[in-house]
Amino acid sequence: LTGSILHDDGCECTVNLNDTRGVDIKVEKLNKYFGELHVLQDIDLEIFAGETFSIIGPSGTGKSVLLKHIVKLEHPDSGEIYIDGFPIFANNKKQSERDYRYSMVFQSSALFNSLTVGENVGLWLREKRICKEYKIKEIIKEKLDQVGLAGKENLRTSELSGGMKKRVAIARSLAMNPDLILYDEPTAELDPVTTDELANTILKLKETTKNTTVIVTHDLNFALYISDRIAMMHGGRIVEVGTPAEIKKSQNPIVKGFIYTTT
Ligand code: ADP
Ligand code: MG
Repeated sequence: LTGSILHDDGCECTVNLNDTRGVDIKVEKLNKYFGELHVLQDIDLEIFAGETFSIIGPSGTGKSVLLKHIVKLEHPDSGEIYIDGFPIFANNKKQSERDYRYSMVFQSSALFNSLTVGENVGLWLREKRICKEYKIKEIIKEKLDQVGLAGKENLRTSELSGGMKKRVAIARSLAMNPDLILYDEPTAELDPVTTDELANTILKLKETTKNTTVIVTHDLNFALYISDRIAMMHGGRIVEVGTPAEIKKSQNPIVKGFIYTTT
């Protein structure tokens, strides 16, 4: 974070928050073991720039482990992941033109209860001294507005419902204008109405942001509703990839079984 970027309104920022792009992700022959457990088995997957891509499947099939590899929270035993064509695990990796920004919305939301909603959203911007305080306040307002929480910056995080916490977590992830945003089980712990609201929020965000979105979920209907494409995972393997329409009429017995048991 060196140098500064002068924005249209005259505010100097250390990061150009207006250069968001969608990144494309290529997973190649990825294998991961936990002891005897072969949790990821020859995973091949391509996620296109700007796509909303869901990874579905029953619990324990390796979805979260795969997601963690994409953000380098786990390291594979073999294989590689390319972001915009650049390998992320290779030792002598070429430097990409500019680092991509990514952020993950964890299942637990992982908010700081001692902070207000606005403070949670502005945490990263303030910590990294991204821009001047007035600009940070503007960004917090804008992001809360985008997730349907306009004017809520002064609420205590501990006072919020599960659905609102999830929205704050999303707003916090959006604060850095990420090129890639990842969600792990965003609908877990949410009731059906709140799940619908969240689905519509994510769909609406897609209209205003260019980033790539990757979602891990066991919630098939949620994935069918919000995704451009879906990969079905089972037993550490990808068994099917397709658009929601293709997934719905898939003849793959594992996919059919999953649709049958969850609808
Ligand atoms: P899910 O599809 O439900 O997200 P996970 O990716 O979390 O499944 O886990 C896949 C398998 O890997 C599970 O059997 C889980 O217990 C195991 N696992 C996940 N993380 C670890 C770890 N850090 N150490 C050992 N085993 C793990
Ligand atoms: Mg999981």
